[in-house]
Amino acid sequence: MAVALRSSGAASWQARRSICSLCVTTHTGGNSLPVTPLAGKAGKQGNSVGAYTCSDLACSLYVRGEKDVGTWLHESLTVEEKIGRTVANLTAFAAKVTA
Ligand SMILES: [Zn+2]
Repeated sequence: MAVALRSSGAASWQARRSICSLCVTTHTGGNSLPVTPLAGKAGKQGNSVGAYTCSDLACSLYVRGEKDVGTWLHESLTVEEKIGRTVANLTAFAAKVTA
């Protein structure tokens, strides 16, 4: 399944510290807010869902520590648990888009 992401542009309120809703990484540089049109009829009517995500969509790299991130929330999860949570968040997001 493919989900089309469309950036909503760089509004000033986005250029603050934000948390990715998929991998729960905190970025001080600001995440983007891709706007995802809903699949099917609802999408054609202009309905969309938005989610804060890492602007480069490198969530899996951040979670695994393969890409440097500014600030992590203080968490005691293992890498495996963070990966599981990211997958669960992504699944829930996809379900919302295609509902
Ligand atoms: Zn992310």
